[in-house]
Amino acid sequence: MQLKPYWLETRTAFSGGQKGDLPPRASVVVIGGGFTGLSATRTLARRGIDVVLLEAGEVASAASGRNGGHCNNGSATDLLGLANSLGAEEARRYYQMYDDAVDFVETTVREEQIDCDFVRNGKIKLAAKPGHVEGMKRSAEYMAREVEPDLVFLEGADLQAEVRSDKFHAGMVMPKGAQMHMGRYGLGLAEAAARHGASIYEHTPVTSLKRLQGGRHAVGTARGTIEAEAVLICTGPSLQGPFGWLRRRTIPMGSFIVATEPLTEEQVAASMPGRRNCVTSRHIGNYFRLTGDNRMIFGGRARFALSDPASDAKAGEILQKSLAEHFPALADVPIAYTWGGVLDMTPDRLPRAGEHDGLFYAVGMSGHGVQFSNLIGDRMARTVAGETGVNPLEGKAFNAIPGHLGPPWFLPFVGMWYRFLDWRS
Ligand SMILES: Cc1cc2nc3c(=O)[nH]c(=O)nc-3n(C[C@H](O)[C@H](O)[C@H](O)COP(=O)(O)OP(=O)(O)OC[C@H]3O[C@@H](n4cnc5c(N)ncnc54)[C@H](O)[C@@H]3O)c2cc1C
Repeated sequence: MQLKPYWLETRTAFSGGQKGDLPPRASVVVIGGGFTGLSATRTLARRGIDVVLLEAGEVASAASGRNGGHCNNGSATDLLGLANSLGAEEARRYYQMYDDAVDFVETTVREEQIDCDFVRNGKIKLAAKPGHVEGMKRSAEYMAREVEPDLVFLEGADLQAEVRSDKFHAGMVMPKGAQMHMGRYGLGLAEAAARHGASIYEHTPVTSLKRLQGGRHAVGTARGTIEAEAVLICTGPSLQGPFGWLRRRTIPMGSFIVATEPLTEEQVAASMPGRRNCVTSRHIGNYFRLTGDNRMIFGGRARFALSDPASDAKAGEILQKSLAEHFPALADVPIAYTWGGVLDMTPDRLPRAGEHDGLFYAVGMSGHGVQFSNLIGDRMARTVAGETGVNPLEGKAFNAIPGHLGPPWFLPFVGMWYRFLDWRS
């Protein structure tokens, strides 16, 4: 078993990166080369704008290359809950944005001819406790009426035809969800941005940001300083660098995944014949899907800790046991890869994008950002380029989290609270 992400181990290296010193200036500097920053960079480069992307590690190798592989439509939280907190119309607007975001990814794959197994196979949300079925039914009716006319509610034999596990009591299928190979998608996006004229520097963490006269910015790195007319920050949980303002508004949270060796056709038939993106209804739930080469990718918030090799290994053991409990037919299938990654959560699990102190930002995808990161990267690039009214998150309040100054000391307490909610439900 390798302590490495399957997606990154099965992609080729990025060939379009710049070597050597940074140029002294650029029109726009994008910080962070995950899907948000890459999508923004591609849009700017396609418009002929002189853009430099600075990435601390390798492109799309943080959350964007370490996720569960789901490119689902719909909001991160239940639509009914969202309607209760934001009002029905605003909840619908958010839902529609995620639909548009999946379409945006599909268009990008087609336009750039990215070889990443993109397929619209749908998502299925699974009721993990008998007590969740009634609530799911109510939710399904509401969603079918408001936003998902093709939603299908499943029980009994129909559910078993999708997912062969006695751990689930009902399910709802949302057919617009998609999946793809995240490593190959991220690589294709970076190659496309470079092809359109962007300069992409890997292994170049930004260490300082300074406002200059005339509204320009000095962006400091160990490879030199670059002056820019505009800066767009797309650093996800921003664990390093001068992003204290964002760090106090988002919570970095670990999530963990195991990938099996390829399953036989019999094992697929005995576990996931529906081949959809599955998520469970618990607060500390699981997410799983099959890959093109028939591996089961099985993830969850197995621990309330950040990701590091020791944490990933411990989480991997918990997930392997959980996988066997959910799918006894796969109990003896070896685990080939184990990894973890860090999410950037906002308290309401809704992303934020805007401008603060002359700097543009797009962060807080909250564990449901494969699709939205791509859309908002594009929209913020257009905002930076001077278009108005294109940022769908414009004006959303983005308050500091009380008591949160950087390191997430409170994660174990969040874990205890979620465990209590799951026990009570
Ligand atoms: C384990 C896991 C499972 C997930 N599963 C799913 C899923 O199945 N479906 C889904 O929709 N979402 C999922 N997500 C969330 C999704 O992957 C993210 O929302 C999305 O990839 C965010 O993209 P991003 O570009 O905003 O951030 P990231 O991909 O985190 O990119 C931010 C980049 O900024 C760089 N950076 C940070 N600081 C600096 C600095 N100082 N200088 C330069 N660069 C810097 C980082 O190195 C990183 O590459 C998951 C996330 C994790 C961790």
